[in-house]
Amino acid sequence: MANSKINEEKAQIEKKKELVRRQIEKEKESSRVAVDNVYFRAKQSIEALISDKNKELEDAMTRMERQHKEEIARVKTQTREKTIQEFVEIRKRKMSELEGSPPDKVSKVEDEGTKFTCANCGKLSTSMLMCSGCDVTTYCDENCQKKDWCKHKEHCNEAAEAD
Ligand SMILES: [Zn+2]
Ligand SMILES: [Zn+2]
Repeated sequence: MANSKINEEKAQIEKKKELVRRQIEKEKESSRVAVDNVYFRAKQSIEALISDKNKELEDAMTRMERQHKEEIARVKTQTREKTIQEFVEIRKRKMSELEGSPPDKVSKVEDEGTKFTCANCGKLSTSMLMCSGCDVTTYCDENCQKKDWCKHKEHCNEAAEAD
């Protein structure tokens, strides 16, 4: 009788132990699921953050590329405009030299042994002014140079080019 009671109590204890074990397993499982959930959510938000950052980075790159291209185009246009402007200026200067008045810079030539001839009045002198447009034709003074310019301008550049 006593033995069977002991056995019964033993069985009940075993039952309780089993219940506790199951409870522990259940809790372990649920906490594992909870950890998994937390991990999953964290992973998701990190991925979202990374994709956001990637997009930001891509946008910034695109913006930079566009700005860079715009800057290159701007510099190109500026350079071209400047070159055209310089060309126009040079042309204007050349035209006015050819059409209007003689080159305003004249150099003085002096040579003891050589007599230069004024292209305007034909006077001979060892000291004369030389046309700076061609560095060939000589004049006794700026007045003669001015007077001769309407004729000389036709040949001034030819002389310079032949030089
Ligand atoms: Zn002269
Ligand atoms: Zn000349």
